[in-house]
Amino acid sequence: MTYRRFFLPSAGYGYRYGYPLGVLLVLLIILLSGCSTGSLLTGSSSSGSPETTISPSATATADFFAMNTYMSITANGSDSQAAVDAAQAEVYRLENEMSRNLSASEISMINAHSGQGPVTVSQETFDIIADAVKYANLSAGAFDITIAPIMDIWGFTDSNYRVPTVSEIQTVLPLVDWKQIKLDAANLTVELPVTGMALDLGGIAKGYASDRVQTIMHGYDVTSALISLGGNVAVFGPKTDGSLWKIAISDPNAPDSYIGVLKATDVSVITSGGYERNFVQDGVTYIHIMDPATGSPVKSDLLSVSIISPDGVQGDSLSTALFVMGKDKAIAYWQAHKDFACILVTASGEVFASSELKNTFALTDTKGSLTFFE
Ligand code: ADP
Ligand code: MG
Repeated sequence: MTYRRFFLPSAGYGYRYGYPLGVLLVLLIILLSGCSTGSLLTGSSSSGSPETTISPSATATADFFAMNTYMSITANGSDSQAAVDAAQAEVYRLENEMSRNLSASEISMINAHSGQGPVTVSQETFDIIADAVKYANLSAGAFDITIAPIMDIWGFTDSNYRVPTVSEIQTVLPLVDWKQIKLDAANLTVELPVTGMALDLGGIAKGYASDRVQTIMHGYDVTSALISLGGNVAVFGPKTDGSLWKIAISDPNAPDSYIGVLKATDVSVITSGGYERNFVQDGVTYIHIMDPATGSPVKSDLLSVSIISPDGVQGDSLSTALFVMGKDKAIAYWQAHKDFACILVTASGEVFASSELKNTFALTDTKGSLTFFE
């Protein structure tokens, strides 16, 4: 079994329209979860002696900006402050290692050597690229980390947004092909065989970071935690009152509010949506999720896809992949695998959710259209 440790590249550092939205979503989640500070976990001894304190359950929170988005990590438990500090440090460490804009990162090294033979990388870098390739394969290329040159010509890498010409797109598009990534597990090398090919792990990096943060926090005396890395939310343990977390699913048409609430714990809830980052030119909105088949922003009949899974890497890659696929193929993908749950919001405002969420997901507006599919 692969043990994913650290390392991942991210996309460029484009202006993120999601800034206030991310903060708002975090606020919503905290509001819904009803976190209290300084409460005590108590219990009774078997001898019937008076209630005794098992452990003091302090709440600690870190709010910070990293990986181009607003993040918030809250933990409950006697070691909550240390856990939150370590989690934040882990995100910063990963960010430093992941960015393809930092020339010292292994991803940058791989990209800089495209067309020049194999590059030796760490086990961590190798494993995350191998995972990304796995989801590229599973999604028939809807998820493709060789999308980098396309992100560049649309200006998402450096925030100089522009609509490229058709011939620019056609020139760059042959460089987008995950099947050409050469992985050598024995020698831990990665090779991009064509000059100009480049990797962009922006669609998987935060899911990986979310998994890493949880692993780190489990090493501390914490009873529960809420980890929100932009559109990626993870929760573990029961809330301080013993109940499940209530996780708000943003309304992609009005991301300041939410369309529904999911009750869960010990999962990641990872959402991809065009509303998270985009630019408008001549009245047309261009989103940051690309269709690797066309080299242009996806024209999906979906506005957002949320994946619910204990595996953040799976959730992040599939949220992007199913968004690219569109509603029918996304549902067919779920039906063929059923190893995650999902919530799809369509352009017409309908919500489709996989059937295992029947008892845990509900719309905020009970008159809205919600269909559970089998
Ligand atoms: P967010 O980063 O807003 O959470 P996603 O997880 O969907 O959203 O990731 C979008 C990012 O993934 C883009 O900014 C880009 O770096 C990268 N990306 C865009 N299109 C694709 C694609 N088809 N496959 C893989 N990665 C992509
Ligand atoms: Mg993603």
